[in-house]
Amino acid sequence: MKKIGIRLLIVLGIFVLISGGILFTQASNPALARQEWVPCSKCGGSGQQACMRCNTSGQERCGMCGGSGQMTVACPSCRGTGRDSTKETCSECGGSGRIQEPCQRCGGTGGYTCTRCGGAGAETCSMCGGEGGKYWTYPD
Ligand SMILES: [Zn+2]
Ligand SMILES: [Zn+2]
Ligand SMILES: [Zn+2]
Ligand SMILES: [Zn+2]
Repeated sequence: MKKIGIRLLIVLGIFVLISGGILFTQASNPALARQEWVPCSKCGGSGQQACMRCNTSGQERCGMCGGSGQMTVACPSCRGTGRDSTKETCSECGGSGRIQEPCQRCGGTGGYTCTRCGGAGAETCSMCGGEGGKYWTYPD
């Protein structure tokens, strides 16, 4: 009985040593060691790319006024004729029939905050989804 007990202990001890050794081997040689961080080729690892709409300015040029903030419109006083009701030169437009007024779309500023990036000038990289890169696993 005593001999069997000792033998069982030895067998158990060997088993523990082997299983422990396997665990240690796995821990010292993790799968991560076979991976390499590869920065995104599109954004260089930043995870951001230049906004295509505003080209990083964060501002869009107003398409309605061409960025000037002013619109040339027909004079409302003389309806664009340049002359008032008494056939004299319209005092509003000075006879040109046209006046400048602040662009309604941009409020006279000539532009507005980019609707694509919200003024940040950058947006999430379309290639890496903002991750900045990915782990490349070495093939076995
Ligand atoms: Zn006028
Ligand atoms: Zn405008
Ligand atoms: Zn933008
Ligand atoms: Zn990227």
